[in-house]
Amino acid sequence: MTGSTRRNFLKEAGAGMAALSIGAGPLQASVMPGRPSNETSSSQDRPSNIMAIAAHPGDAFFAMGAPVALATHQGGKGSLLSLSLGEKGSATILPAQYGEAQREAAQKAAALIGAEALFFQYPDGEVPVSDEAKFAVCDLIRQYKPDIIVTHWRGSWHKDHQACYDIVQDAVFYAALPGLVRKLPAHSVGKLFFDDNWEDAAGFVPDTYLDITPVFERWMDACAVFPMWRGETGFRYNDYYGSLAVARGCVCNFRKAVALMSPPEQRVRHVRAL
Ligand SMILES: [Zn+2]
Repeated sequence: MTGSTRRNFLKEAGAGMAALSIGAGPLQASVMPGRPSNETSSSQDRPSNIMAIAAHPGDAFFAMGAPVALATHQGGKGSLLSLSLGEKGSATILPAQYGEAQREAAQKAAALIGAEALFFQYPDGEVPVSDEAKFAVCDLIRQYKPDIIVTHWRGSWHKDHQACYDIVQDAVFYAALPGLVRKLPAHSVGKLFFDDNWEDAAGFVPDTYLDITPVFERWMDACAVFPMWRGETGFRYNDYYGSLAVARGCVCNFRKAVALMSPPEQRVRHVRAL
């Protein structure tokens, strides 16, 4: 993303951020330099429209589903796009059969959290970083008009996750370009966040903690629909993401939370002199 459109995107991204205030009084111990912030804002200012974009259905629901569930719980909209069905994820079930099981699970899980499951069918393990894929995601962004997108962080050992990161970066850029004529008009995504995914942990530094306490059980129930949730394919997603929500909640004083990471440019604050 370069040039004036990138600047427009940054302006949009920063528009919703709370102003940084600098108090004149002495610093409290809890806000001393180097200590984590205790600043808390509300997510209920207005309902959001959130789109999760993941390489595989499991990623969409396990690592990105809670913010989507929170958006629908608060009266907003949610959608979860999987670029692949993750059909090669089982060592015992044939890809065609497993892919359909994944699709059915995603549809059922989406219904449980009041969201919509969307699918592309790029081959699992071979998600292409192509303009065709980027424009396809761009078109869905223009159709669903999300305020917020949650997707993979690039620091992943899984090539499909890296591909998804690259695709989404350019799809957000394409979607916002008025001069890029597609079937639907341009749409600027307000904010982009990266998910807290066990496979995308290299360099993941969270800066946003979201209170998911009201939707935790519903989100867990939705995840449990998936055939891999309880460790059937070798990783105990239920234990990992369930306990991660507790651990993340501890550091921000919420009962349950998910951590998100902003793109560096989205963290920029402009502080006007008084
Ligand atoms: Zn994945």
